[in-house]
Amino acid sequence: ARKRDGKNGMLVFDTSMLDSARERHEMEQNIDAALKEDWFEAYLQPIVSLGDGRIAGFEALMRLNHPEKGILSPAKIIGIAEENGSIARVGERVLEKAIGHLARLTQLEGADTTYLAINFSPLQFTETLPHKLAALLLKHHISPTRIVIEITEAVLMLDNPDVHAVLKQLSEFGCRIALDDFGTGYSSLSYLNRFPVDIVKVDQSFTRSLSTGTADVRRKSRMLIKGIRTISHQMGCTVVAEGIETKEQWELLRKLGLDYGQGYLFSRPMPIENMLLMLEMESEVKATNRA
Ligand code: C2E
Ligand code: MG
Ligand code: MG
Ligand code: MG
Repeated sequence: ARKRDGKNGMLVFDTSMLDSARERHEMEQNIDAALKEDWFEAYLQPIVSLGDGRIAGFEALMRLNHPEKGILSPAKIIGIAEENGSIARVGERVLEKAIGHLARLTQLEGADTTYLAINFSPLQFTETLPHKLAALLLKHHISPTRIVIEITEAVLMLDNPDVHAVLKQLSEFGCRIALDDFGTGYSSLSYLNRFPVDIVKVDQSFTRSLSTGTADVRRKSRMLIKGIRTISHQMGCTVVAEGIETKEQWELLRKLGLDYGQGYLFSRPMPIENMLLMLEMESEVKATNRA
């Protein structure tokens, strides 16, 4: 933030700086309180097979359920938690919730093979992570093959041997690794070669560009997505599209050969209770139709 001259030539702070300092402090307090009072939640969003719309898995998305302020989204929380070092505890809390949710989903008919994708920031890749994850999975009788570890290239760009070792360990343990927000940032294709990546998640900006802008922009977007799809498949990865909001986008992405997708068209991220209700209602509808 910048300082500027006040009326009497005195230096005063830019109010935007005060705001952000106050905001930061407030968010740090929210995080502390949320850890203490158990306000962190893992919302779930279905990931569907683009061919038939069936649910293949769920992504766990962090929410801070503040009793007065309501639901706070992860964007700001994570940045601040990374800076003040609380991300390890925050991440662990969300991980516990998410694995617990997968155990509950598993009890539903037809949902016992669905996978769970969990986001991790670079700072969570410490050598204790595989042990913590293994203990949670053991406690809930869940196979590691049902877990997807979502990372962004920020994790890989660290070029840190310890991080790579943890990634390799998780992969050998049976978890799959997904590269999130692919196509933004540097998106070096060599990551697909150098790391045990199983899933490529095409960033939602690509999905959006399929149906906005000029015909030329949309045509080029289709080419880009097709290119990412071809390379990913040739590297043995499955491809997931993010941010699908319209039927038109679904249809285009299916035709472009993408495997899975997620977005508001299928479902918004929701609490486990709502997700269980929705799945139960769906299976009742199916049973009624069969009868
Ligand atoms: P992400 O992993 O790429 O997650 C997808 C984001 O897109 C989510 O935002 C989701 O709510 C949103 N989304 C899903 N479908 C649609 C759609 O159709 N349209 C639009 N416009 N958006 C859609 P959210 O939940 O706010 O999370 C933002 C980011 O925060 C995530 O991006 C992820 O990078 C990070 N994040 C979320 N939970 C965690 C967590 O537990 N740990 C860590 N380290 N990061 C997390
Ligand atoms: Mg993600
Ligand atoms: Mg993403
Ligand atoms: Mg994202």
